[in-house]
Amino acid sequence: MTEPIRDTSKLCVHTITTKPWSIEEAIDNYAQAGIGGITVWRQWLEGRNPIHVGKHIRESGLTAVSLCRGGFFPASAQSERQQAIDDNLRAVDEAAALGAPLIVLVCGASPDVPLPEARKHIQAGIEAVLPYAGANKVKLAIEPLHPMYADSRSAINTLKQANDLCAAINSPALGVAVDVYHLWWDPNLEQEIKRCGASGRLDAFHICDWLTPTTDMLNDRGLMGEGCIPIRQIRGWVEAAGFTGFNEVEIFSNHHWAADQHDFLNKIIHAYLNNS
Ligand code: ZN
Repeated sequence: MTEPIRDTSKLCVHTITTKPWSIEEAIDNYAQAGIGGITVWRQWLEGRNPIHVGKHIRESGLTAVSLCRGGFFPASAQSERQQAIDDNLRAVDEAAALGAPLIVLVCGASPDVPLPEARKHIQAGIEAVLPYAGANKVKLAIEPLHPMYADSRSAINTLKQANDLCAAINSPALGVAVDVYHLWWDPNLEQEIKRCGASGRLDAFHICDWLTPTTDMLNDRGLMGEGCIPIRQIRGWVEAAGFTGFNEVEIFSNHHWAADQHDFLNKIIHAYLNNS
């Protein structure tokens, strides 16, 4: 049986989880709540110097865990695929300036592109960005997404696909982000988490919960304990596979975003300590 979590030192919150807050508010409020890490979504850097944001994060005692997100490689036109690669190169610059060691990749998909073709675009896109990422000491992490997003967000939908793609590309600058929301249903999950850890590529762990009914395919994720995902069991598998990093709370929720964000952050901490 996996032990309960005792403190918030390994708790990381994604800036999108507290969407109404600016980057400055998020940093100050997370630090004040005793949270250990922050994952910064790129929109939160708009109009900011990422070097200054990184400094603010470190001076507040927080760790910059990841930058979210790169990817979105597939497109029917070659020019669009090149634009995506260029944008990912800019994301590497932002992560390096911020001091974040990892960029999470939502690999992309397009209803115009057949999935096998999209997967080739993804591999080619990652291979085009990896040398620059490696040179800047930034890792890329493939995040497999739930198959309900295979039309427009990701053609990589299982951890096995992510592990296979990492094995095919075989770069020390490439790893995987395991998100319970996307992967909890997979009968091969425990086995593929073991495989991911054994290959040294398990780089991030994201948590939230699956609500029944889910009323919005994107923005109706639950707090840990509000739904049916066996989060603690999956955390146990991830830890048994050697993962010692942050537990990242990533919740997109119209319901929670409409609430007072200080109350919501308190609920996140309570759910983290009791239901994760
Ligand atoms: Zn995630």
